[in-house]
Amino acid sequence: DAPAPGKVSTRYDLEKETELRFEVESGVSAEQVQLEVLTGMAEIFGSELNRNKKYTFGPGSKIAVFTWQGCSVNLYGKPEVAYVSKDTPMLLYLNTHCALEQMRRQAEEDNERGPRVMVVGPTDVGKSTVCRLLLSYAVRVGRRPTLVELDVGQSGVSVPGTVSALCIERPADVEEGFSVQAPLVYHFGSTSPGTNIKLYNKLTSCLAEVFSQRCEVNRKASVGGCIINTCGWVKGSGYQALVHCASAFEVDVVLVLDHERLYNELKRDLPHFVKVVLLPKSGGVVERSKECRREARDDKIREYFYGFRGVSFYPFSFEVRFSDVRIYKIGAPSIPDSCLPLGMSQDDTQLKLVPVTPGRDLTYHVLSVSNADEGDNIVESPVCGFIVVTNVDTQTQVLKVLSPAPRPLPKHTLLIMDIRFMDMK
Ligand code: ATP
Repeated sequence: DAPAPGKVSTRYDLEKETELRFEVESGVSAEQVQLEVLTGMAEIFGSELNRNKKYTFGPGSKIAVFTWQGCSVNLYGKPEVAYVSKDTPMLLYLNTHCALEQMRRQAEEDNERGPRVMVVGPTDVGKSTVCRLLLSYAVRVGRRPTLVELDVGQSGVSVPGTVSALCIERPADVEEGFSVQAPLVYHFGSTSPGTNIKLYNKLTSCLAEVFSQRCEVNRKASVGGCIINTCGWVKGSGYQALVHCASAFEVDVVLVLDHERLYNELKRDLPHFVKVVLLPKSGGVVERSKECRREARDDKIREYFYGFRGVSFYPFSFEVRFSDVRIYKIGAPSIPDSCLPLGMSQDDTQLKLVPVTPGRDLTYHVLSVSNADEGDNIVESPVCGFIVVTNVDTQTQVLKVLSPAPRPLPKHTLLIMDIRFMDMK
């Protein structure tokens, strides 16, 4: 991966405890930027960098190269911005890791469970980055923590519209993030918890239950604890969802990033034994526009079907007869309370499975393939993969789908997402 001839190279000499922040221009025609550590040691979001290796960052990347002892690095190519900052909260983040590690050691001695940590805050405060950092530090000292991803808008684990859990066994890859093997994924169906808060809370409880079951049989997982990444919606039902999550997972620590009011509210509303800690956000975290978030979501779906960087996948396109599948949407549209059948509450309608008759409007929708077998509760069953509807023929009663695996579909229960994906490849 030698830099392309003619690429400008800029050298930065970083003092100890400082970071080089740079952003790569977004857009398909944008030029990649490469990074190389020449002397000393540095890390990116908790993952150590090798010296004299060139790391490549694609369009839209926003990176911080941090050094504890000082180092010099080269950047090849033209980043949109690049500057060195002395003002970073990394020391506080490291201290947080040390405190969590202390709790893990104590848990080992007392035969108890390790810390369950929830990271909260509004959008664009670096929640996902703090999760990545804490997980990578934990795994670097030999722990096996679990990442719980509750951000249905920008999931770091699976496609948008899902919640998931992933056992972390290696620090995040500097260029590609955590290796996603065998995550546990549930279908939510949209990019905002507010579209069906009842379902969102239900799925949080499902993840908490599975995680607790795993902790009972796997000591390392239990001591490693979990780091929960949440959505940036911190008011009203969004706030209630955080409180629900804290109780479902029986969290021990809540890290509040850059939101004093949220910190005070959680301190007031959570049991006193939960440690609520206010942490500053890093000045390097970049605000992302709606458009930027939408693009990131699209990229995540494209990656699922076509692979990422060095790894190319070749998805399949095939026809599925209407009669061979059952398609559902979770949640019936809300109706005025006065019109509800006797004995039924609004909550029941939010978890109801509504059969979907395939029509033209199904085109481009992402569908989750449910793992549920006959008799299983479909809403509470994990999913085994995703497909996209590329065409609907109501005459011949067949759907055309894009699928990561060849026909036939492994299961026949499909759940429709609000999310659409247009395959431009
Ligand atoms: P969301 O609103 O989606 O929940 P978030 O709070 O989880 O966002 P992140 O995804 O962690 O925020 O960070 C937003 C962006 O800022 C990411 O692209 C990340 O790479 C970048 N970033 C985080 N910390 C730094 C830093 N110190 N310097 C430069 N860029 C950073």
